Amino acid sequence: MKNRISELFDIEFPLIQAGMIWCSGWELASSVSNAGGLGIIGSGSMYPEVLDDQIIKCKNATSKPFAVNLPMLYPDIDKHIETIIKHKVPIVFTSAGNPKTWTPHLQSNGIKVVHVVSSLKFALKAQDAGVDAVVAEGFEAGGHNGRDETTTMCLIPKVASEIRIPLIAAGGIGTGRAMLAAMNLGADGVQIGSRFVATFESSAHQNFKDRIVNLPEGETILTLKELTPVRVIKNEFYKKIESAYESNADADELKNVLGRGRAKKGMFEGDLIEGELEIGQVASLISNIMHAKDVVREIIDEYRTALEEQKTDKFKF
Ligand code: NDP
Repeated sequence: MKNRISELFDIEFPLIQAGMIWCSGWELASSVSNAGGLGIIGSGSMYPEVLDDQIIKCKNATSKPFAVNLPMLYPDIDKHIETIIKHKVPIVFTSAGNPKTWTPHLQSNGIKVVHVVSSLKFALKAQDAGVDAVVAEGFEAGGHNGRDETTTMCLIPKVASEIRIPLIAAGGIGTGRAMLAAMNLGADGVQIGSRFVATFESSAHQNFKDRIVNLPEGETILTLKELTPVRVIKNEFYKKIESAYESNADADELKNVLGRGRAKKGMFEGDLIEGELEIGQVASLISNIMHAKDVVREIIDEYRTALEEQKTDKFKF
């Protein structure tokens, strides 16, 4: 496959593994890149010296391009940027902040910049800021998300019809059929998160991986819109948030319920009760823990099978 996204990143398949706090370190990112996709190190959960070490390990594990995700709501962004430039990381995915802030600086250092958005309005702003591509992420996605609840099915065609730059679809995509559907809606590539959490190479805690592969449909929810909207599993910690809402808690009270370090507690330390477990709706389609390279292979194989099926009578009427 050679299209606008695979050419932009110099990769084999337009399949990107999302940067995910506590889940996507160098092992996952390098495995996905070695398998022909684009692996991303999620720097949000990393102190500067940790990111430095992770980039060195990733470079030692792959000669293929990889990226770093910078969620701008976390501290130490300027130190992370210095580290990325120092190591000549070729691609950065920015999110949760204004794309104007860092795009020119990164690009002037030869780095391609992709910004993650949840609406057409933000996609156009990112394009105006000069980014090389956007990820448009629908309501189904895990972790931090937009407030508007626009689904991938509605978001992708809208954004595709209004922007000129390459478009990567995200949210609810974990299979080759979903990848093809997203491409049919107008995307040039896909970004996949949840499916890669349940891999041997992800740095998520085993308890969290086991929970994902057993998660029934309907067990995640987009919540905390008053702070930063986030899709989580409805566990006991979430039930505390729910009770706070029932008592008409304001943003400060919700912040108190959230406390500090919940995401680490849940996803990295494996506390399924008190931790925050960020995962997408697609988790209910994931039933096994696999090697990341096999996830890439399975998705591409299924994509190609589904593409062939589009030539059959089912699609002709
Ligand atoms: P918190 O802000 O609660 O805590 C910081 C966590 O990040 C700790 O686990 C810390 O690790 C780790 N960390 C990594 N790098 C740094 C760094 N450079 N400086 C400080 N801490 C670092 O982390 P969350 O991931 O839960 O949340 C991040 C941000 O997102 C916060 O602003 C939070 O309020 C917001 N948030 C909002 C939510 C919502 O509104 N829905 C949900 C979740 C988060 P260590 O423990 O090792 O120090």
